Amino acid sequence: MFGGTFDPIHNGHVALVRCFADLLDLDRVHVVPTRTPPHKATSQTPGDMRLEMCRLALEDDPRLVASDIELRREGTSYTFYTVQTLLEEDPLGKVYLITGADMFLSLTSWHRFDELRELVTFCTVPRDDVTADQLRAHADYLESLGCSTFVAEMDLVRVSSTEVRRRAAEGQPLDELVPPQVERYIAEHGLYRPRSE
Ligand code: ATP
Repeated sequence: MFGGTFDPIHNGHVALVRCFADLLDLDRVHVVPTRTPPHKATSQTPGDMRLEMCRLALEDDPRLVASDIELRREGTSYTFYTVQTLLEEDPLGKVYLITGADMFLSLTSWHRFDELRELVTFCTVPRDDVTADQLRAHADYLESLGCSTFVAEMDLVRVSSTEVRRRAAEGQPLDELVPPQVERYIAEHGLYRPRSE
């Protein structure tokens, strides 16, 4: 499972989930746009549009699926409940929770962490601001608490949703930042344009 705001999903997200699917030989990666994130302001873009952009971005790889689990659940989108739902749907499944490096460092403060750690393997990857050594040290700490962890090594695509929104607002091309289907969707729906337009 890989959760996020995905406002919009971009090439960095897609490369990350594809790489984890290869590394861990995953049958399925559920890409889960959040409804009301615990760690961030709620997105301006409606959930159904963020979900549709995820669907479009992932449509050429059958292992990668855009999931509406959190959008259909009311209240704060805590990962614990999302994982519970995934395991109800597939009781024999094993869940790998893919998190950005910043999120990985904050895991112990997550809602129902003590139960979540029993259900998943926490997976992450280093980024510019968080080194592999920092992540491995934190992974060791999490393992000492009984968690299962996996710190991957991969080259990340340097892009953020913030950059995509800024470029779209300026009317610049997005072709190196998001898949073409997502770029078309953003243009067709006039997403991220300044309000006066
Ligand atoms: P924003 O710029 O709006 O903060 P974002 O690009 O970080 O958005 P989110 O939807 O908030 O995207 O991120 C979901 C997850 O993807 C987070 O765990 C984040 O760390 C991770 N992530 C974001 N950008 C990349 C990238 N380029 N490569 C790999 N992971 C990324």
